[in-house]
Amino acid sequence: MRIAIAGAGLAGLSCAKYLADAGHVPIVLERRDVLGGKIAAWQDQDGDWYETGLHIFFGAYPNMLQLFSELGIEDRLQWKEHTMIFNQPEKPGTYSRFDFPDLPAPVNGLIAILRNNDMLTWPEKIKFGLGLLPAIVKGQSYVEQMDRYSWSQWMKSRNIPERVEKEVFIAMSKALNFINPDEISATILLTALNRFLQEKNGSRMAFLDGSPTERLCQPLVEHITSRGGQVRLNAPLKEILLNPDNSVKGFLLRDNNDEIVEADLYVSAMPVDPLKTIVPEPWRSLECFQQIQGLEGVPVINLHLWFDRKLTDIDHLLFSRSPLLSVYADMSNTCKGYYSEERSMLELVLAPAQEWINKSDQEIIAATMQELEKLFPDHFQGDTPAKLLKSHVVKTPRSVYRATPGRQAHRPLQRTPVSNFYLAGDFTMQQYLGSMEGAVLSGKLAAQAIVEDFPTSITSENQQMSLV
Ligand SMILES: Cc1cc2nc3c(=O)[nH]c(=O)nc-3n(C[C@H](O)[C@H](O)[C@H](O)COP(=O)(O)OP(=O)(O)OC[C@H]3O[C@@H](n4cnc5c(N)ncnc54)[C@H](O)[C@@H]3O)c2cc1C
Repeated sequence: MRIAIAGAGLAGLSCAKYLADAGHVPIVLERRDVLGGKIAAWQDQDGDWYETGLHIFFGAYPNMLQLFSELGIEDRLQWKEHTMIFNQPEKPGTYSRFDFPDLPAPVNGLIAILRNNDMLTWPEKIKFGLGLLPAIVKGQSYVEQMDRYSWSQWMKSRNIPERVEKEVFIAMSKALNFINPDEISATILLTALNRFLQEKNGSRMAFLDGSPTERLCQPLVEHITSRGGQVRLNAPLKEILLNPDNSVKGFLLRDNNDEIVEADLYVSAMPVDPLKTIVPEPWRSLECFQQIQGLEGVPVINLHLWFDRKLTDIDHLLFSRSPLLSVYADMSNTCKGYYSEERSMLELVLAPAQEWINKSDQEIIAATMQELEKLFPDHFQGDTPAKLLKSHVVKTPRSVYRATPGRQAHRPLQRTPVSNFYLAGDFTMQQYLGSMEGAVLSGKLAAQAIVEDFPTSITSENQQMSLV
């Protein structure tokens, strides 16, 4: 079957890959001139890459890891030491670590927490551990029910001291959804903590060895096209055309000729914000499309700063614990493709970004440089401060869905009430929230729904898609 897919982010590309594997012919239509959506990257005139976001792959990403293995590119994931490193704002230029020993879960996680004495006192650790018990014992059903609370409300209800939130969870909330603990749903943090505590390598992190566009999206495209599929850039979906029975008749593209792409089945793998604007009038009363009205993307800014010297040799992600910034990394250490012995390239995520998203790049960089004076006092406060050589600022006004309390009920399934129309995208219902793993899984789930609804000779004879 010919299957038209709008959007060449990870969800659209993964959906196309699994459909092609099942013997279908996917045609991916991407609005922009670049692959990858929120993992898109560009090369500047010097050949240096800059990205939509600093992206971390976790051990707890089974579908993503399986995808790397199926594409034969596992060696592109550069796994780092199993630790989490936080800046210490009261002691500028110093770090506090949660080191995970090589032991089974949850022992390794518990030891990592218990051994860290810089950030939490013993009574705080004990109260936090006791507070977490229902999530550990009752599992995901409890975690889902907690979507009615913000993380701050949940912590209070479990009698966990406020300092635990300040010390650890402002940084975690900002890293997971670019918002603060008083805004983020308790379900998000509890889901992440459960994964990190229940899987030995759940919280272990990897960086890709180069730009996501080249090193991950391109092999996906090669896989899809080698099996007869197509991936077209500069092909924006303008309107979903309907048959008299309100099923999809075609995708009308917004280009010079107003081309109509006709297929047997259709998938939207667009983010939720553009999808909401494009839902055809007759579908608007359907529950699935009313549901998504309650979701919207959250703003975030990704900065790249190149310096005249090395600022650090830390080869890992860092939680800045700065009011302005979230996580950052010196990509000249962490990423083989961006490696430099002489100069640091810091990639930093600015969040929450609501107040900054409309400011000029100069203002954003000036504010970030002030924060760097606290993160790297030795390099910015002496007589010969480090010099900023160049910078790139990438703003995403609507990124992953804002995961505030109550959003779980607004996430649609991949199968819709329209007989020939499916949804993929990190915002659709799957257990990995708004993340790369969530996007890959959503694409796979959409492909699986199609394969179940329309079996091909390959799928009926062979196999079920392996969902992890
Ligand atoms: C700064 C930042 C940091 C992040 N860090 C991490 C991280 O460390 N780890 C992690 O797991 N995740 C991270 N994420 C989240 C992750 O990038 C996303 O969850 C994931 O990439 C979303 O994939 P998607 O395919 O669902 O959506 P998208 O990537 O948004 O893809 C949707 C595609 O649809 C296209 N499109 C839109 N409108 C149309 C149209 N009309 N016609 C055709 N195409 C259209 C878009 O151009 C886009 O290419 C981060 C995101 C950001 C922004």
